[in-house]
Amino acid sequence: MKGLCILGATGSIGVSTLDVVARHPDHYRVVALTANSNVERAFEQTRRFRPDVVVMTGAVEARELQARLKQVGHQPTRVLSGSAALAEVATLPEVDTVMAAIVGAAGLIPTLAAAQAGKTVLLANKEALVMSGPLFMSAITRSGAHLLPIDSEHNAIFQCMPARYQAGHRATEIRRILLTASGGPFLRKPLSELTRVTPEQAIAHPNCVMGRKISVDSATMMNQGLEVIEACLLFQMPPQQVQVVVHRQSVIHSLVDYVDGTVLAQMGNPDMRIPIAHALAWPDRFDSGAEPLDLFQVKQLDFEAPDFERFHCLHLAYEAARMGETVPAILNAANEVAVAAFLDRRLPFTAIPAVIEHCLDTVPHQPAASLDAILEADRHSREQAQQRLKHYDHP
Ligand code: NAD
Ligand code: MG
Repeated sequence: MKGLCILGATGSIGVSTLDVVARHPDHYRVVALTANSNVERAFEQTRRFRPDVVVMTGAVEARELQARLKQVGHQPTRVLSGSAALAEVATLPEVDTVMAAIVGAAGLIPTLAAAQAGKTVLLANKEALVMSGPLFMSAITRSGAHLLPIDSEHNAIFQCMPARYQAGHRATEIRRILLTASGGPFLRKPLSELTRVTPEQAIAHPNCVMGRKISVDSATMMNQGLEVIEACLLFQMPPQQVQVVVHRQSVIHSLVDYVDGTVLAQMGNPDMRIPIAHALAWPDRFDSGAEPLDLFQVKQLDFEAPDFERFHCLHLAYEAARMGETVPAILNAANEVAVAAFLDRRLPFTAIPAVIEHCLDTVPHQPAASLDAILEADRHSREQAQQRLKHYDHP
C-alpha cells in the first residue's frame, strides 16, 4: 500500500486521479489532498477518502472546511492553509507518490520539493517543469526519484520508450518524437474571425473536459508549445527532434520514431484516467475505468502539419525551447497572465501571442541555475505582461 498526495485534488486531473484510486483501495491510501478555493469539493473528497491532511490555499477557506468537517463529526483530517503547507504535505514521510496537478507556476515549489525528497512524481503540472527545466530534472536524478509523465502525449512517449527507460535520460536509438495535438476548437476557423472569439468558445475543447487555462492553451496551441519544451526536458531531446503533428481524432497520443525505421504509437480513448492509471500502476497495469477503444467507431486517423502562422504561440514556444535558460519561464509567465486576461475579457484572443512575444523581447534572460533566477524571471515577465495589457484596456 502506497501513500498518495494529490496537489490540486479538486481540478480535472485531481478528480480523475481519485476516480482511479477509488477503484484500487488496496494499492493507494490518500495521505494528503490540496485545493485552492473549492471548499465544497474539498469537503466531499475529504469525507470520502479520509486523508490525514488537507491544504486549502486561503485561510478563510481552510476555516470554512474545518467548520464543515466538524459539523459532520469528521475527525481524522487536519486542515492547513497557505502555500508553504503544499511543500510540507508533498514531502511527508507517509507520502510515497505525489500527483502534481496544480495548474501553472503555483505548482512549482511543492513539485520541486517532492522531487528533491525522492518521491515518485506523477507530473501533470507541465508549467512547473517548463519553468524550472534542468533544475527540476537534476533534482530528480540526484534524489533518485521516479518521474512519470501524466500529460497524455508524454505518457504515450514514455510507454513507447525502450524497456526499463527512466525519464531524464537520452535514448540514443530514437530519431524523433512525434507529439500529437488535437488542434483545438479553432483549427479551421477563418483567421479574420479569431479576434472576436469568446472564452466560452475557446474552452469548448472538441475531445475532452479540462481546466480553463489548459483549454485556452489548447485553442492557441501554446499547450503543445509547452509540451514540446516538456518533451525536450523529459526525454533529453533537442527541439528540432520533437515534431508536432495535428491529429484530430485524439486516439494516437504520440509516437516514437526509432533509428531502424520502427515507429511506435500509444493509442486509446481520450480519457486522462488512462495515463493516470498507467503511472499509478507502473511498472504494472491496472484498470483505469476508461472505455475500451473501438477502432470501427474511430474508422479513420488523420494527420496534418501545424500552421505556425495561425498558432504563433507554438512558434514562440519552439523559440523558447531553442534558447533555453530562463526563456521558457518568461514564456510561461507571460502566457499565464495573457490567458487570465483573455478569460477576464480584458484581452482579445489574438493578442495572447502578442503579449508573450513582447515579454520574450523585453525581459532579460539568464541561466536557469537557481530557483531564485527562475522565480525572478517569472516575476519580471508577469510584471511586463501586466504593463502590456494596458495597451488593450481601451475599447
Ligand atoms: P484545473 O483548473 O481543473 O485544476 C487545477 C487545480 O489546481 C485545482 O485543484 C486548484 O484548486 C489548484 N490550484 C489552482 N491554482 C492554485 C494555486 N494558486 N495554489 C494552489 N492550488 C491551485 O486544471 P487541470 O485541467 O486539472 O490541470 C492541472 C494541470 O494538469 C495543468 O498543469 C494542466 O496543464 C495539466 N494537464 C491537464 C490535463 C487535463 O486533461 N485536464 C491534461 C494534461 C495536462
Ligand atoms: Mg497533453
